[in-house]
Amino acid sequence: MDTRTYDIEGFAEQLVEHGLIVPTGIKGAYGRGPVFEDILQRFDALVKRIAADDGAQELTFPPVLARAMIEKVGYMDNFPQLAGSVHSFMGTDKQARELSAKVHAGERWEDMLSPTDVMLTPAACYPVYPTFSGLLPQGGRLVTVLGWVFRHEPSDEPTRLQHFRMREYIRVGKPEDVVAWRDAWLQRGLTLLEGLGLPVQSDVASDPFFGRAGKMMAANQVDQRLKFEILCPVISREKPTAICSFNWHQDHFSSKFGIRTSEDAVAHTACLGFGLERVTLALIKAHGYDVADWPAKVRDQLWPR
Ligand code: ATP
Ligand code: ZN
Ligand code: MG
Repeated sequence: MDTRTYDIEGFAEQLVEHGLIVPTGIKGAYGRGPVFEDILQRFDALVKRIAADDGAQELTFPPVLARAMIEKVGYMDNFPQLAGSVHSFMGTDKQARELSAKVHAGERWEDMLSPTDVMLTPAACYPVYPTFSGLLPQGGRLVTVLGWVFRHEPSDEPTRLQHFRMREYIRVGKPEDVVAWRDAWLQRGLTLLEGLGLPVQSDVASDPFFGRAGKMMAANQVDQRLKFEILCPVISREKPTAICSFNWHQDHFSSKFGIRTSEDAVAHTACLGFGLERVTLALIKAHGYDVADWPAKVRDQLWPR
């Protein structure tokens, strides 16, 4: 039986006290101490070691995405409540003086900014889909990315951040290959996380589509088993936290970006993402605030000799 206590404030306080996280005054945007970051990086390295034989191509993108891409993937239709837009000042000298005066007078000044061509990337895989455009090589492709993502969901829960990192794998190819890949990784993810002593379970899930129409989209996503999550109790026993997600997009991205199989048929895409901060917090919750006390079985995997 799980006899641990789950209390959000107590957990956050302990994390700060042990130097694992550093408060910034912003909800969901704390700094990471060296030990927190070491755990995170080592978990990421472990994932990459496990996946090494798959031969994924590693790509790295900046944490901003073209506004046109946000529009094209339908983000403003489905998740406007999570979006983060980058604005800047594009005015005249006179307006710049006005802006500065407003700032110093303690007046609101944001209306003097204009939207730039970029938004903050809300999912690490988005920049990858356009790179698949056209005819795929035989067998499709597999890409991995590590990226910072932004979501406007300020919260006191240490597990719900506004800016966090995802290690994602993105598979594109024939529909049956993509589904088989997703299924195999779901098992692989469970085995990996169980092997690290985490009390995980998997379940079908849905995305937080906005509004009333969104409820139907979410129900449809569950019916079609398009999204799975690996869940682990971190801040609550009753509502375990999603630490890894698996999404089968069918032809959502391939139709938008003109992605075709080597035989010029409809391609499907799927992605999986480990929420690296959440995995780190799950490990801390499971094994304690001092990594020196963690079980040897866990230490040996994260800090291999
Ligand atoms: P949740 O249901 O908890 O909001 P999600 O369904 O929005 O999670 P995804 O969109 O599938 O999550 O994102 C992939 C992974 O990123 C999740 O499995 C999780 O580990 C992590 N993640 C999602 N939202 C956050 C957040 N606000 N803070 C930290 N990690 C997050
Ligand atoms: Zn993804
Ligand atoms: Mg969410």
